[in-house]
Amino acid sequence: AAWTPAADRALAARRRHLPNTHPTYFSDPITMVRARDCRFYDEHGRAYLDALNNVTLAGHGHPRLVEAAARQLGRLNTNTRFVYEVLSEYAERLTATLPDGLDVVYFVNSGSEANDLALRMARYLTKRDDVVIIDDAYHGYTSAVSDVSPSRYRHYGKPDTTHPTPVPDRYRGRYGYDDPDAGARYARHVADAFDRLAAAGRPPAAFLFEALLAGGGQVVLPPGYLAPIFTAAAGHGALTIADEVQVGFGRLGEAFWGFQTQGADVVPDFVTMGKAMGNGFPVAAMVTTREISRAFDPAGRFFSTYGGNPVACAVGLELLNVVEEEGLQHNALVTGQYLRDRLSALAERHGLIGDVRGQGFYSGVEFVTDRRTKEPASDETLIVCERLKDRGVLVYPTGPAWNVLKLKPPLTFTRAHADEFAAALDDVLEEGW
Ligand code: PMP
Repeated sequence: AAWTPAADRALAARRRHLPNTHPTYFSDPITMVRARDCRFYDEHGRAYLDALNNVTLAGHGHPRLVEAAARQLGRLNTNTRFVYEVLSEYAERLTATLPDGLDVVYFVNSGSEANDLALRMARYLTKRDDVVIIDDAYHGYTSAVSDVSPSRYRHYGKPDTTHPTPVPDRYRGRYGYDDPDAGARYARHVADAFDRLAAAGRPPAAFLFEALLAGGGQVVLPPGYLAPIFTAAAGHGALTIADEVQVGFGRLGEAFWGFQTQGADVVPDFVTMGKAMGNGFPVAAMVTTREISRAFDPAGRFFSTYGGNPVACAVGLELLNVVEEEGLQHNALVTGQYLRDRLSALAERHGLIGDVRGQGFYSGVEFVTDRRTKEPASDETLIVCERLKDRGVLVYPTGPAWNVLKLKPPLTFTRAHADEFAAALDDVLEEGW
């Protein structure tokens, strides 16, 4: 597409004022102007189907969320040292979605802050420093959470208090889809890490995990994985932190929270959330128990200027209403599966597709150059994304080898959208290399 002078100016100023290392999607970046429901529109008015934006859970520019934000911004916006009803109502509604006991909400502004706070509390309460994680995870950008994010500390060296455990990847890992005990076997590696640390006189403060691995390559946790880890963690006095920043709020279809897809007995000590929480408006939180909160916070050590502000609460509350009233979790379950079925059917004709996996509207399509060796088709994956973009469909790679399409559309995505996506991918793969 031809560049307009305004888009040229926007890109030039961006290059002057953003860090050199700040990437854009696509080799020929798109200047976005607006978005509605599942479509973006660029400066030429060209439409793009959005299959990558997990933040806008209820679709872009949802009128009820726009209205909730605008109304509250015009009425009152301040901080949590005042009492305002919208915060109280939101905290009640939010905690009602969680298992009993997870009652206390720390409102913050980003997923990084939520994880940072959970880690800090876990370390303070246990008087320990070590943290066990799942390899290839990403938990945010602050110093503390970069130190537990392999994709970040890879660039500066793993801190010796961080202990990565194997990605429970049934496509590539040592226990496959054909192993009914894969969950328990992968869990054993985590329990072994706890045991080793305890034996070395430094039992862990926490086990920090995502309920579906995003940066790890859209990896679905095998059934029976978290329960034995939680039992082992309890045995060692380690706390559990569920990072729901990517997958919470009904995206996985089967349950409102990702950890709940692993069984009713899996109840974390901390749940962190963000992204979809405000449908694009910055809202994030860490939720824990009253007992933990009391032990950490006797003197009121936590305050966030913007965390829990009335506008954030009004948007977050309205998002919960919209998810419920529009049946979005159910749509994620049903249409998410329909999308994966369409993509799996493509695998019969396109050898590049090695694996199709996911839960609800959080899916991965892994590309390989050879199904037997599973050699990652990293270059091809990026080319597929570029070609899809040229056809007006947006999706992007993820995973340690960047060979997995990460599909996380708004939960308003329809069967027609899924058909459109599958047809475009079919055409693009048909073009060959
Ligand atoms: N946890 C996970 C799983 C994430 O994907 C992200 C962001 N990509 C974060 C935490 C950090 O969230 P934020 O960018 O809002 O700080």
